Formats: sequence, C-alpha cells, structure tokens
Amino acid sequence: MIRINQLKMPLGHSADSLKARAAKTLRVRENRIADLKIVKRSVDARKKPDICYSYVVDVAVSGLDMAGEQQLVHRLRDRNVGISQEKVYRCPECGGERLDHPPVVVGAGPAGLFCGLLLARKGYRPILLERGQDVDARTREVAAFWEGGTLNPSSNVQFGEGGAGTFSDGKLNTLVKDASGRNREVLRLLVEFGADPSILYLNKPHIGTDVLSQVVKAIRTEILRLGGQVRFMSQVTDVELEEGRLRALMVDGSKRLKAEAAVLAIGHSARDTFEMLCSRGIPMEAKAFAVGLRIQHPQSMINRSQYGQDKVEELGAADYKVTWKAASGRGVYSFCMCPGGYVVDASSEPGRLAVNGMSYHGRAGENANSALIVTVTPEDFPDRTALGGMHFQRQLEERAYALGGGKIPVQLYGDFRENRAGAENFGQVKPQFKGAYAFANLRELWPEELSKALIEGVEAFEGMIRGFSRPDAILAGIESRTSSPVRIPRDEGLESPVRGIYPCGEGAGYAGGITSAAMDGLKTAEEIIRRFAPPVYRG
Ligand code: FAD
Repeated sequence: MIRINQLKMPLGHSADSLKARAAKTLRVRENRIADLKIVKRSVDARKKPDICYSYVVDVAVSGLDMAGEQQLVHRLRDRNVGISQEKVYRCPECGGERLDHPPVVVGAGPAGLFCGLLLARKGYRPILLERGQDVDARTREVAAFWEGGTLNPSSNVQFGEGGAGTFSDGKLNTLVKDASGRNREVLRLLVEFGADPSILYLNKPHIGTDVLSQVVKAIRTEILRLGGQVRFMSQVTDVELEEGRLRALMVDGSKRLKAEAAVLAIGHSARDTFEMLCSRGIPMEAKAFAVGLRIQHPQSMINRSQYGQDKVEELGAADYKVTWKAASGRGVYSFCMCPGGYVVDASSEPGRLAVNGMSYHGRAGENANSALIVTVTPEDFPDRTALGGMHFQRQLEERAYALGGGKIPVQLYGDFRENRAGAENFGQVKPQFKGAYAFANLRELWPEELSKALIEGVEAFEGMIRGFSRPDAILAGIESRTSSPVRIPRDEGLESPVRGIYPCGEGAGYAGGITSAAMDGLKTAEEIIRRFAPPVYRG
C-alpha cells in the first residue's frame, strides 16, 4: 500500500472527504481509492484555536500492483508519500525442549495476561497465579476501601486481576519502538477483547478503567477456554530451587506447584515477593525511578491552554506533558497525566500511603491531574542493597500515611510553595479524589531538595501552561510507584541466571506502563514457545 503522512483534515470532516484528500495527494481519481486504512491520527493544535487532525494513512489504488505503486510514489516526488513498511507481528514456532509441567505465569497484570494469552493460544495451557481477586470482586473491595474501609494487602489498586493499571486512565501509548510489531499486536488484541477500534490509530490511545476491566475479564475467559487456568487469591510465597534451577513454586505458604518455567510478572509493588526472591539468591539490582506529588487543575484551564478554548466536544479533555531540568540537575516532569480524572489512594501496604491517577473512558471529570515527579537514583536510597529503592519508597509512604493520619495528605500549591500549613480549605479548584484526604504540609514528606526542584518545575511550567502555578492547585502525595525500584536481570533468552525463571514486565524493570508491559508479556511468551514444546496432557 502507499503511505501518506501529514494529511491535514479539519475537525468534523467525513470519511469521504479524507478519501478525497488522499486521492488528491496521489493525483488519482477518487474512485480509484480501493482501500484506505488510518494508521495514525493526531491532533495538531499548533495554530490554536484553529485545530486540525494530522493523519497517516495507507492507501490501495485500484489497478496498481507493487511496481505500479512504486512508480506512482517516484513520480509524485512528495516527501510525505512513500511505500508502507508496516511490520506484521509473527509468533515463533514451538521449540522441542520437553516440559513436564505447564508453564506458570505469576501475576495477572498486563504482562502476565498477555503472556498467558499467547501461551494458551499456542497450546501450552498455562497456569496463572494471581494474589489478588478477580476484577469484579476487586472492584467492590477497592470501592469499599475508598469509602473508608480497611485495606486488603492482597487485593487492592495494585494487586488483583488486570494488575496495577486496572484502576487507571488506561493510557496505551508507549515510547518503546515497535520493530517487532508487538505494540500493534497488543492494541489489536485489546480491540479483539472489547476495546474501541480507534485505539489502533489514535496517536494517544486510552481505554479508561471501566472498559479495561471488561477487556481483562474477556482475556481471562479466553485463557480458560483454551485449557489454561487462572487461580485468584494465590500468592507465590517461595521458590524451590535445585542446582541453580527452578523446581517448584510454593503458593500461599503450603501448596507446592512443580514447574520448569515460571514467568515472574509481579509488577512494581510486590515488595514481599521481591524480598523473598532476593533471599533465595535470585539476582536483583536497585534501579533509579522517580517520586513526586500529584497536582490537580481545572480541566477547562488545561483545555484553554492546549486548544485555545474551554471545551472542544470532538476532542474531549486535553492532556499535557511538561519537563524541566532543575538547578540541582534533577529532572522534573509530568507523569501519567489523567485528563478529566481522579486522584486515587493507590496504597497496598498497611501504614503506608501512595497516590496515583485514574479516569473513566469518557474522561468527563472536572479536573486534570498529573504526577509531577523527580528522578531518584541509588545515591538517594537509605542503603546500597538491591532493595534500597524499595526501602526508600516505604519510608516516603510511611511519612505520607502519618502526615494525613491514614488519609491522602493534600495541600494547596501556594501553601506548599510558602512552606506553611495553610488555611485547610480549597480555592476554585474543587478536589476530585477517590479515597479520604486530609490537609497537611507536604514539605515534611521528604528532603527539602526534592521540594525545591518540584517548585522550580511548577514555576517553569507556568510559562508552558497558563495557570499551572496557581496557588489553589491541589497537591497530593505521595506518588512513589512510578516504576519498579529493582531490576531482575535476564539473558537474551529472557531467563534469569537461575534457570527456569523468566522475569517479565514492569516489576522486573523491563517495561513502564500498560502497553509496554503487555508487549514484554508477549516477548516472554515467545521465548518460552521458541524453546519448549507444549506439555503433553494425559486426561
Ligand atoms: P502489574 O500490573 O503490577 O501486575 C502484577 C500482578 O502480579 C499484580 O496483579 C499482582 O497482584 C500480582 N502479583 C504480585 N506478586 C505476586 C505473587 N507473589 N503471587 C501472585 N501474584 C502476584 N500505565 C499506563 O500505561 N497508563 C496508565 O494510564 C496508567 N495508569 C496507572 C494508574 C494507576 C492507579 C496505577 C497503579 C498504575 C498505572 N499505570 C499506567 C502503570 C501500569 O498499571 C503498570 O505499568 C502496568 O500495570 C505494569 O504491568 P505488569 O503486568 O508488569 O505489572
């Protein structure tokens, strides 16, 4: 097919007019456009309030074979017109090494689910072990927690079917290059299991917590249909190793599950599991991550800055991305921005508190929120062990819990900047939280240097988004689960030096976000498929 880049179209245009524009660009009659596939659509708001779409499309022209397409492209001499080079995803053929037991996947987040799905489709009948509950029971439990109930350390915003992203905005964009076609395959699978097909071409696709929950359930149903197993409330509490090789997993302290291959897709918050793996000698190292606070502004203010008007119905709530280098050398940047969203209590350990952001598919909430984070490295951690970053997170979360008396500690930006306790009431920005909150001085959370870097960042962001540093913007802490504090090394076959263990996804340090974790799940499944034959089932 012929690829056309940078095809500009006005908002509200029809499918026919897009076809007509493509035909005009290729200088062929419109009735010769046999097929038109949208590859990408982004919003171009550089000349706001005149906003338009910018398309990448693949077009088939009737009567043209590949040589004909090449001739047409050559004749046009237009740098936005070329031959489409789309990479098609291919799963490897099954290998020959014998497996006596089905492969086990630990964790049913995006990495574990996509790994399990591919293994199931290739006939491996995987066993998925998930410490949390199924998504329906989990949703009820999380809602009760946000209403003031007790935290369940096994099933919460971080743990349970769907993993950490289940109660999220469900942003699906990733910075990982798609040389293998895995990114597109993940999006294609999400659509197969219920997501809107527009995620295949939107520049910044998002799914929302409500739709994601349904998709996750549909993937589980497919794994079960193919003979796989998904066991909830099943926590891997130990690993049995012999001569540097996995023999079995211990589940809930007492059940032994033999396995020659286990994928550890445990996410970035499985701290007890990290401790267990470390104590068993699984190689692991501390890694840099980022910590910060979440900030809320009125969504209309963000729309005004990005679109030049309070609301553009067709485009929905606007997003933003801002970065700054503080004088101390630390990078300050926005992270996991949630248009029309809520700030949620995302804690997973009693006595420790962490926040994150979430939106529904419609992104119709009153506020925009985003984490504002600063990078921290092993030099900042309280110890130089592999778990130093995790210990640092725990310290910060304990302080956050204490500051808010168990509730999300919040502060107006103006008070944070002036380092004062403040008036304990909100300004024009109305709070949008899931979970109880209480006023506190967030400057007491962490070293002063981090607060200074953050303030520097917010003041700089005012120059990018008008109103960003308004005194009544609402801050909440602490955003500590931005990525994994550890890396669990693996070789080119994606196996740990302890054979049979396949570290995977965000927790192992190989992904950051829903899509990249799901891609890593596919990649890990491919390695198991390439190496082993599906186990033989007797009855
Ligand atoms: P996880 O999703 O963390 O899944 C790991 C699973 O393993 C968990 O379900 C856990 O219960 C289970 N587990 C852990 N230990 C064990 C054990 N010992 N035994 C059995 N099971 C175990 N990313 C985005 O791309 N877009 C977003 O909009 C977005 N928003 C987010 C909002 C929130 C509130 C949160 C918390 C995260 C958000 N993220 C977002 C990050 C994203 O969710 C993660 O990057 C992604 O889920 C990582 O996938 P994973 O499969 O590697 O790990």
